[in-house]
Amino acid sequence: MGKPVAQYLHAQMSIRSNIVLRILRHNKQESHTVSAKTPVTIAYGDGIGPEIMEATLKILDAAGAAIDKEVIEIGRKVYEAGHSAGIPPEAWESLRRTKVFLKAPITTPQGSGYKSLNVTIRKTLGLYANVRPCRVYSPFVRTLHPDMDLVIIRENEEDTYAGIEHRQTDQVVQCLKLISRPGCEKIVRYAFEYAVKHGRKKVSVLVKDNIMKLTDGLFHQVFKEIAEEYPGIQTDSWIIDIGAARLADTPEIFDVMVMPNLYGDILSDIAAQITGSVGLGPSANIGENIAMFEAIHGSAPPIAGQDIANPSGLLLAAVMMLVHLDDPEPATAIHNAWLKVIEEGIHTVDVYTEKGSRKKVGTKEFAEAIIKRLGTTPETLAPVKYEKLDRDLPTHEEMRPTTRPRAKKDLVGVDMFLDWNAGTPDELGTKLSKVDSGPLNLVMITNRGVLVWPKGMPETFCTDHWRCRYLSPDTNNPIIKHEDIINLLGKARAAGFDFIKTENLYNFDGHPGYSLGQGQ
Ligand code: NAD
Repeated sequence: MGKPVAQYLHAQMSIRSNIVLRILRHNKQESHTVSAKTPVTIAYGDGIGPEIMEATLKILDAAGAAIDKEVIEIGRKVYEAGHSAGIPPEAWESLRRTKVFLKAPITTPQGSGYKSLNVTIRKTLGLYANVRPCRVYSPFVRTLHPDMDLVIIRENEEDTYAGIEHRQTDQVVQCLKLISRPGCEKIVRYAFEYAVKHGRKKVSVLVKDNIMKLTDGLFHQVFKEIAEEYPGIQTDSWIIDIGAARLADTPEIFDVMVMPNLYGDILSDIAAQITGSVGLGPSANIGENIAMFEAIHGSAPPIAGQDIANPSGLLLAAVMMLVHLDDPEPATAIHNAWLKVIEEGIHTVDVYTEKGSRKKVGTKEFAEAIIKRLGTTPETLAPVKYEKLDRDLPTHEEMRPTTRPRAKKDLVGVDMFLDWNAGTPDELGTKLSKVDSGPLNLVMITNRGVLVWPKGMPETFCTDHWRCRYLSPDTNNPIIKHEDIINLLGKARAAGFDFIKTENLYNFDGHPGYSLGQGQ
């Protein structure tokens, strides 16, 4: 069943527009609209953060952006004050109230006691889509890829970024990669909606589903399903390794790219870097209710306080914020003035070249140059024109993942993981075969995923971390009970084995919900 084609960015309708609409609805007799400033939470951050935020806000003010700034403190000082997440409770209140966050980079202290503030904010506020436009400004900013103009849409909440890690044996640690169908649906639909709204032609998906058939396989499957709802958008799919290679070599073949969290993290930095400077890249983190806008780069401590940092990444993020707030006029004016400055060769040191630049400027002078050019348009670079909303907004309900009937789930076996360091795979197989496993049969043992019993290869290197798979031998009725697993664990423990975890094996609607062993 198709969903209406509409743009989700604008579904996050501005509080200001809402206020205007509500007043109009309330008092239909009134012929004039009442405007109000939109409250926006602002964080100046660490390192170069305060300088680039000052420059950005000065330009926003000069362009007449109607925002009410609510400043919060996050980052280094807050970490040092004892908040291990880097954000105090009152800052959360501001974010939940304004629902829009313009954030300068912060410094994450080294050491295991501190949590990444960015990951905490994204996940806590449900900012599931990380949007990074990566375009070049050739010939004014040096790049090897003059035709590159793409947008990376990275899933922001799932994957290995759940941060669920365990040391399980002396030798082996693990990190859980969690991918959910609703998570895939939200980000993939967002990517297609973004393409429609921004007049983009193609959406590419990048996954590694030749190896991770269930996790990345689900992402790819959902992509194929949702693509059918958007017949006007071309699609293609890439295995992440060759896709990354093509991105670094021939980025002009890509338009909108959508991918799981970890790949998106890595590829979006590569993409930003090859446009010419990480100092240029903006990003938006979009959720159902709240959105955060920031530069892609960090706090650059070595150049902090010297008035040399490039404020462009944060400024262009602020432009994305104004578009999100449905305030297209200042967004257009700022973006065009910025393009004009870039094409006039007025550059900060990170972008400056003898050949391509005319004047090297500091952060403040760069901002002044933009302010002077507000109202002008670039001559060589293509000018931008942001528009007011021109069609009905989708509701949050429409953007929500589809509800499907739950699959029939049957327990058919168990993977019992052991910490064992007392011999060869064959010796382990022989010992385990003597354990009374009730209605379950030991069918294979793998080590780091590779089949080592029965009939393993002597060349395979084995650690102390073993997966022992038990299934029912009855193929007509393979369903087992949880008690069968508990019984197995009890018997294995009585035989002296150290089981470190189990994974239940389920069939969903009769199809195995687990992967085979490599070599099985
Ligand atoms: P970084 O992005 O701060 O710096 C990388 C390089 O790019 C440095 O050479 C730096 O001088 C240069 N650079 C970055 N932004 C620039 C700008 N606007 N103008 C000119 N040059 C610029 O990355 P890093 O050094 O790995 O990290 C520094 C700190 O920032 C760390 O504490 C890290 O955790 C933090 N960080 C924060 C965020 C964020 O808040 N969103 C993102 C990334 C890193």
